[in-house]
Amino acid sequence: MLIDPTTLATLPEREFRAGMAEVIKYGVIGDAPLFAELEQAAAADGSGGLACQAAVGPALLQRLLERSAAAKARVVAADEREGGLRAILNYGHTLGHVVEALCGYGTYLHGEAVGIGMLAAGEIACAMGLWSPEEQRRQRALVQAAGLPLTMPALDPEAVLTCLQGDKKVTDGKVRFVLPTGIGSVVIRDDVDAATIRQVLTTLS
Ligand SMILES: [Zn+2]
Repeated sequence: MLIDPTTLATLPEREFRAGMAEVIKYGVIGDAPLFAELEQAAAADGSGGLACQAAVGPALLQRLLERSAAAKARVVAADEREGGLRAILNYGHTLGHVVEALCGYGTYLHGEAVGIGMLAAGEIACAMGLWSPEEQRRQRALVQAAGLPLTMPALDPEAVLTCLQGDKKVTDGKVRFVLPTGIGSVVIRDDVDAATIRQVLTTLS
């Protein structure tokens, strides 16, 4: 989902924040300067973070959305040269969809669930040695600055694993996760073990 600026400017604040989750996503999957700009905006003096339209302001918002659209276009163009890359646009969505489904659709807005899913992917990546606790801290700080939830209700791990298996992104019974390897880069892995997923559920609840 990518929101156009004219739409985002008129959204209720909660939906605005949910939209920011996808902007953060583009920073993590392929645009380190966008991520840095979000960090600067979140840390600016007198800033209300990234959590409301008034704090972000129209000029910055316009630029963030343009950069997000450009990041998406680069992924799509690269996907046409090298198939399969488009799947990285699902960053945060694998567990995000599970959270949406198991908590009842409507409990979390899509973007809120994606924010939790990105934190989960970051925790998995840390556990697998793919990225550092410091990078996870930075991602978490942006999700927090955007006023998005940092935790989720304790979900039954077996229900989560079953739901993941039923996800359309499963190939050959393996769950594919888009995992960060640095700010601005991700990999797709299908070898995340169940124990790691259970541990991450505990960490985030
Ligand atoms: Zn989405």
